[in-house]
Amino acid sequence: MTEVLLEVKELKKYFPVAQGMFYRRKGVIRAVDGVSFQVHRGETLGLVGESGCGKSTLSRVILQLFPRDAGEIRYRGRDVEELDRSQRSKLRMVFQNPYGSLNPKEKVFSAIAEPYRIAGGYSRQQIEEEVLHLLGLVGLSPAHARRYPHELSGGQRQRIAIARVLALEPEFIICDEPVSALDVSIQAQILNLLKDIQEEFGLTYLFISHDLAVVKYICDRIAVMYLGKIMEIAPARALYAKPKHPYTRALLSAVPGAADQLSFERIVLEGDTPNAIDPPSGCRFRTRCPYAEEVCAHEEPDLTSCGTEHFSACHLLHKLAG
Ligand code: SF4
Repeated sequence: MTEVLLEVKELKKYFPVAQGMFYRRKGVIRAVDGVSFQVHRGETLGLVGESGCGKSTLSRVILQLFPRDAGEIRYRGRDVEELDRSQRSKLRMVFQNPYGSLNPKEKVFSAIAEPYRIAGGYSRQQIEEEVLHLLGLVGLSPAHARRYPHELSGGQRQRIAIARVLALEPEFIICDEPVSALDVSIQAQILNLLKDIQEEFGLTYLFISHDLAVVKYICDRIAVMYLGKIMEIAPARALYAKPKHPYTRALLSAVPGAADQLSFERIVLEGDTPNAIDPPSGCRFRTRCPYAEEVCAHEEPDLTSCGTEHFSACHLLHKLAG
C-alpha cells in the first residue's frame, strides 16, 4: 500500500435544529457521526450512499467549509487546520453543478486564472500560458477562454471546473457527484477525463456518488455510508462480487439489470431513511434490515475485518457471509 495522504478518524459533524417562536434547540442532526478512513496516494476512494447519508457534509468538513465537532482530519500526517495556504491549495473539490461553481458574469479565462491571481507571483503572460495549457488538458480549445459559462454545454462547463481545480498542481481532489447533473452520454467522457488526469498527475480522489455503476467504473476502493456512518469499506472488486453488509446488498440489488447476477439473496429496501436527529439505537440500519435480531437494537456493530482490506459493521457478519 502506498503512503496515506488523508486520514480521517472518528470525525463528527452535527447541525443544531431549532424550533418554535424562540428558536429553542430541538436536537441535532448527526450528519457525520464517527467516521474513520484513510485515502492512499494515487487511489480513488468512492463514497456511496443514499441522499442525506452525510457523504457531501463529510467532504465539506474535510475541506474545512464546515467546522468539525470532533475527530481528526490529517493530510500527510498534519491536521488540516495547521496547513499553510500553499498546502491547503493541494486539496481541491469538483462540485456536482458546474454552473453553480462558475461565476456567470466571468469569462472562462478569468475563472481558470483566478487561483493564480489569488496565489500571486505570476505575470500576465504566465497566467495566460497556464490557462491555455489547462484548457488543452481538459479537451477544450483556446477559443473557449473567451466564452461565458452560459455559452457552454453542461459537459464543457464541467471541463472548465476541472481545469480550474487543476490550477496550482493539486494532489487530492474531492469529486462530489461530478457527473450526476450531466447527460448519460457525457458522463463517460468526464469520467475518462478524470481518469486520464489522475494518471498524468498522480492525483488522489475521494469520489462521492449515489450511482453504483459510476463508482464501480472509477474507484479502487469503496466506502458505503448510511445515516452518518460507514457500514462497509472494501476494494471495489470485492464489494461488488461479495458484499457483506445488508445495506450494501440492498443498494446493489437496486442497480437496474443486476438482479440476475447477484451472488446473494436480493434485498428490496423498504421505507425511508430514518431521521438523523434521532437515529435508531444499536445498528442504524436495523429498521430497514430484513435480518435484524434483538442484539441489533442494543449494540452498535463495529467495522470488523472480513477479508483483505474489507471491513463491515454488522453483528451477523459471519452468519450472512456469502
Ligand atoms: Fe442488519 Fe443487524 Fe447487521 Fe444491522 S447489525 S445490518 S440490523 S443484521
